[in-house]
Amino acid sequence: ATPKDCPADVETLGRNTWTLLHSIAATYPTTPTTTEQSDITNFMRLFAKLYPCWVCAEDFQKYIEKEKIRAQSRDEFGNWLCEAHNEVNKKLGKPTFDCSKWQERWRTGWKDGRCD
Ligand code: FAD
Repeated sequence: ATPKDCPADVETLGRNTWTLLHSIAATYPTTPTTTEQSDITNFMRLFAKLYPCWVCAEDFQKYIEKEKIRAQSRDEFGNWLCEAHNEVNKKLGKPTFDCSKWQERWRTGWKDGRCD
């Protein structure tokens, strides 16, 4: 590792964090209990407060207020998260992601075996 690799910059932190969040969505129950639904909601709210990129955190908290967290099923939460990620993509001028494919990217794997 070069000195520039550590501590993590906003990009590395972001990439790794999205991996964690989408992976949590991928393992979230297909039919969550009310406790599981409130756990994920509380987790996302606390995450948005504690995320160690303060400008990112501030915008993400506003997004959560505007677009209420939907988590009545795995697919619903995965789509909500995908839309939240797309909002950040737009802000940064990155291409948006086709949310109908979130499970292929983060749960089942692409049919051709790639993982980007
Ligand atoms: P990333 O955006 O990190 O994406 C990683 C991979 O996820 C992509 O390669 C793609 O395969 C997949 N992917 C892309 N879009 C989606 C989607 N919509 N749904 C599912 N999968 C997808 N950076 C800033 O500079 N300013 C900010 O305000 C900011 N806010 C952030 C807020 C949060 C909550 C997080 C987690 C990160 C934030 N970041 C912010 C970091 C930023 O989103 C990127 O992570 C970083 O710029 C690196 O981008 P990347 O091109 O490697 O791909």
